[in-house]
Amino acid sequence: MGGAARLPRPFFFWSARVYVCAMASAAKIHRPDVAVAGGGPVGLTLALALARRGYETVVADAGTPPDKGGAEQAKADSRAFFIAYGCWRIFRALGLEEALLAGAEPVTQIEAEGRIGGINFIAEDCAEPVLGYMVEAGLLASVLHAAAAAEARVTLLSRARIDHVALGDPCAVLKLTGAEVHAPLVIGCDGARSIVRRAAGLRFEGHDYDATAISTTVKLSKPHNGAARQVFLPNGPMAVLPLKDDRANLIWTEKAAVAGALLALDDRGFELELAKKAGDFLPDAKLAGARHSFPVGLYIAERFDAQRAALAGDSAHVIHPLGGQGLNLGLKDVAALVDVIATAGRAGLDIGAASALEPYTRWRRADVAATAAAMEGFARVFSAPLPVRLAAGLALSAAGSVREARKLFAKEAGGDLGELPSLMAR
Ligand SMILES: Cc1cc2nc3c(=O)[nH]c(=O)nc-3n(C[C@H](O)[C@H](O)[C@H](O)COP(=O)(O)OP(=O)(O)OC[C@H]3O[C@@H](n4cnc5c(N)ncnc54)[C@H](O)[C@@H]3O)c2cc1C
Repeated sequence: MGGAARLPRPFFFWSARVYVCAMASAAKIHRPDVAVAGGGPVGLTLALALARRGYETVVADAGTPPDKGGAEQAKADSRAFFIAYGCWRIFRALGLEEALLAGAEPVTQIEAEGRIGGINFIAEDCAEPVLGYMVEAGLLASVLHAAAAAEARVTLLSRARIDHVALGDPCAVLKLTGAEVHAPLVIGCDGARSIVRRAAGLRFEGHDYDATAISTTVKLSKPHNGAARQVFLPNGPMAVLPLKDDRANLIWTEKAAVAGALLALDDRGFELELAKKAGDFLPDAKLAGARHSFPVGLYIAERFDAQRAALAGDSAHVIHPLGGQGLNLGLKDVAALVDVIATAGRAGLDIGAASALEPYTRWRRADVAATAAAMEGFARVFSAPLPVRLAAGLALSAAGSVREARKLFAKEAGGDLGELPSLMAR
């Protein structure tokens, strides 16, 4: 336990539970302190963070483990994530920084432009060496998976689809093929279609945009100099995000039907359409990876906790990718949730009780709603009729000319505002 408080396990409580579980099924039963549903970036980070606080976790994920280095994984997911410097502290605290830095590209400036006007801020605006790092999805998965596999308090179950979740007392029960996980708390890190959220009966409110985000890797014709750049085009934003070796992750958001046609083109046809659309924003870029598409929506769960359950990452909220903040929100969920669980554990409370988890929703939901509203505002305003787009561009320029406003933007993008959990402490 490494000195950390742990859920009290009165003998009668556990013996009754074991008896009931043994009667119920012949499947292999795991009994960790916390069950983590979903081993994406949020689930694996959470399992590691809980392990470092002394909690045993079982992570059940439907997918296959990533290959070492993540090169194979990148063929299935070409995304690269902007990890804000505030959230990067979580990876540093968990000892992952060195492995990630082998492939991560520092982001030292962010530019967002409308048709006229825009905002540009640099790391010095928030007195930091970098605003964040770009990490390719394959590398992130591989580093997190290796760290979780090496951690004695984490049990990883791959190819383990959760078919049923029952939130009862004294434990939540997850049914997988050939196994069950019984734990006083299950944390849903199982993405937008979360089975845990459904089992908890929590509404997921929001809407789809008529938009699809195309992600791919491009080789740039000139150095990116650490700049993450985004331009707001009438059908949706286009982002060019710096990667190692003067490559970039391109996120091109288009109306769903247009995106479908773009995806159907061969590489040369796609490059020609990209050149037409991007113009001077992205001259002479050449495709350097596979293309993948993602639906775009905005959804937030009514609460992030319930009796025996909590939600973190995309199971709790999905936002427009335009600001590169979705995973950052999920990482902040992880850091806050770990503090809330540790506080309850230290007080000798049942960590799966709704009363113990309630501070988590209070802490995180308002921050998520504010970020989601900002992304919604940008998406709507910059796809509005031309006069509105022009006014929005000019308003951004005006804000960008004020040093304090730039500092605020930079700190917000860096995930460094508000009440910070201990894993994100400055
Ligand atoms: C184009 C694009 C670009 C983006 N760029 C950024 C960015 O730059 N920065 C940023 O912060 N965010 C970004 N995001 C958002 C980011 O991708 C998500 O917020 C993040 O991936 C959420 O991680 P997660 O672990 O919560 O969920 P997921 O990545 O969806 O992982 C969920 C996991 O749960 C597993 N699972 C699901 N159901 C079950 C089940 N029944 N049983 C077992 N396992 C299950 C899945 O196998 C999966 O591994 C971007 C999103 C898009 C679409």
